Amino acid sequence: MRLELLKLNIEEGSSQSFQFEETSVGDLSGITLLEPVTGHFVLSNLGIGYQLSGTFATKVSQPCVRCLEPVIQNIEFDVNETYLLDTGDEPDQEDVFSLASDILDVSDIVRQNLLVEVDEFPLCREDCKGLCPVCGVDLNKTTCSHQKSLEEK
Ligand SMILES: [Zn+2]
Ligand SMILES: [Zn+2]
Repeated sequence: MRLELLKLNIEEGSSQSFQFEETSVGDLSGITLLEPVTGHFVLSNLGIGYQLSGTFATKVSQPCVRCLEPVIQNIEFDVNETYLLDTGDEPDQEDVFSLASDILDVSDIVRQNLLVEVDEFPLCREDCKGLCPVCGVDLNKTTCSHQKSLEEK
């Protein structure tokens, strides 16, 4: 979802509400969306730029860092960011960004915020035994001779 800010014609000091629903928000590096990202947000014209505030939700799957079994996670997150027009340099405030054009790429904003919310090191379960480093079997499901020899040492 890309918004052409000037075409929206939001008057300075007022705002407009939007619904968001996208089955893809771009490259999520190994994370799979099991459901579209849905949400709603309000875009306010501040004069010097625009403020976006909204809530988004989805369900993702990513491989367990130890055994590679899929780990499902429900994600819900808020976005509160300000985008300044024509500032030239990058603002040093948190959650304030400068806009290179009059196009606001909402999908990309959602993507970046989603990546922050997702578990960095997902585990299928707390005590996941992982894969055997020698033969690669899933040690949650089976054992192999390599494990016995490791334990004996
Ligand atoms: Zn696992
Ligand atoms: Zn093994």
